[in-house]
Formats: sequence, structure tokens, C-alpha cells
Amino acid sequence: MRDWWDYSWNLAVGCSKVSTECVNCWAEAMAKRLRAMGREEYQDVVNDHGFWTKRVTLVPERLGDPLRLKKPRVIAVNLMGDLFHPNVPYTFVADVFEVMAQTRQHVYLILTKRPERMLAFWNLTLAEDWGISHEPMSHVWLGTSAGNQAGADERRDSMWGLARMGWNTWVSAEPRIGEIDWSGWEFLKWMATGGESGPKARAMDPNWARSDLAWCREHDVKFMFKQWGEYLPLDHLKVGERTTFKHRPVEVNGMVMVKVGKARAGHMLDGQVYRWHPNVADGG
Ligand code: SF4
Repeated sequence: MRDWWDYSWNLAVGCSKVSTECVNCWAEAMAKRLRAMGREEYQDVVNDHGFWTKRVTLVPERLGDPLRLKKPRVIAVNLMGDLFHPNVPYTFVADVFEVMAQTRQHVYLILTKRPERMLAFWNLTLAEDWGISHEPMSHVWLGTSAGNQAGADERRDSMWGLARMGWNTWVSAEPRIGEIDWSGWEFLKWMATGGESGPKARAMDPNWARSDLAWCREHDVKFMFKQWGEYLPLDHLKVGERTTFKHRPVEVNGMVMVKVGKARAGHMLDGQVYRWHPNVADGG
């Protein structure tokens, strides 16, 4: 269990990469492991080399999971893929939203790198009678991820369209691999910033996280500093004359970053913890 969501609801597993932010996809690595463990829904979505095949396996038998949960939960929707991947039919997405509409005791966190399809889905449901409510649901948070300026620029207009419809919108600025000017994103309700993890992780300039925090404060957007990832700034470490590092430190924009591992790097930014996230008390 994570400290900001407590149920993972995977309904459409598998994906394909859309940008440099996807290079070290966490879900792809996890799918490789689950395939090796014999999990049926993962057999076709990654190949023998552990790469996405671009196939998506729908798991309709999990649609009813939230109805069976006794306690209200913060539910991460489809971490093992992208609910708005082109291979996920909109009729299936409608089924997912129907379940969310029936379970307002939970909070749902949705994240996609294809927000244009998320916006198109809602435009379609408005144009046609799909049998689901057109009203934005306050317990459902629609998010996109953006790790660099190109990703942010590409996805902003769609997210703005969803915010104008009245949805709670958020951004996961992770894996953070570049500077981002967030001008034009003032409609957001929440930003979660984080560095990359995994064996090939790229280091994050700490000033990117600092400027996200400052921007969120200025625009009254809730902020989470999710994690440093594998690298921690040298100035966050206690270093003596005899300190040696297992890995050679790297420089990002003149900032020295040391690979200490995700667990040790943690999620403290300049001595503070920033962990705001939607929870069952605010969501329903
Ligand atoms: S969109 Fe997400 S799940 Fe799909 S490849 Fe990129 S990082 Fe992985």
C-alpha cells in the first residue's frame, strides 16, 4: 500500500510508448515480472524481451472490484497501462466510469499520457447518449503526466478542456526529466512532482521541484513531492572528507546528484515533506 492510494484497479493492462518520458516505463518492467509469474492477462502485452507488444488486454472481470470494497478507498485506476490507450474501446471506458459513478464513497485517481482521448471521450458522451452521467464527478480526479516541456505543451489544451467541463484535474510531473514552465496550467487542482526510479533512472534537477512548489503556492494548486527517485542532491546528504559513493555523482544543470537508491533518497524537499493528495474525506 502507498501512502496516497490504497487500491490498484487494473482493468486494461498493456501499453505502448508515446514519448521520451516513457523510456523507462515502470509498468512495462512490472508487466514483464507478472508475465514470468504466469499471470494470464500479461502473457500477450509484453514480449520475451520484456517490451510492450502494443497489445492491451481488457480485464472486465475486475470491473466490479470497487463495488465489493467495504471501506472507502483511494483507488489508482489502471497503473498497469493507460485507460485512454487507443486499443481500449470507449465502450469499456464508459463501463469503468459507470462503476465509478456507482461508488462515490471511493476516490479515483486516473492518469493518462493521452488526455486528448480522455477529452474526446467526454465530448462523445456529451454528443451521444451513452447511458452514463455527463456530470463531472468530484470523487474522480482526471490527470495527465508531464515530465518535460514538450509533454506539458502537448497535453495542456486537453486538460484545460476537461477542467472547463468542471472536472478536478491534476498533473503528475514524473518522471521529471526537464524544466517546465507551467504558465497556462493555473486551472489545476493538484500537482505531484517526482524523480525517476529504476535501474536506468535519470536524475532530476532539484530546482525543477523547487520551482513547481513555488508555482503551486503562487497559484493555489495543491502540491505533492512524491519522491526524488534514485538520485539525491549532494547538499541533502551528510558528507564528510572520507565519504565515498558507490556510483559516480552526476551533474544536472550544475547541481551534483548522487545515486543513493529510491528508498534512501526518500521524499523530503529542503527539509520539508509535501504529501497533499485527494483522500476519501475530500473526494466523495
Ligand atoms: S503511457 Fe505510461 S504506461 Fe504507457 S508506456 Fe508510457 S509510461 Fe508506460
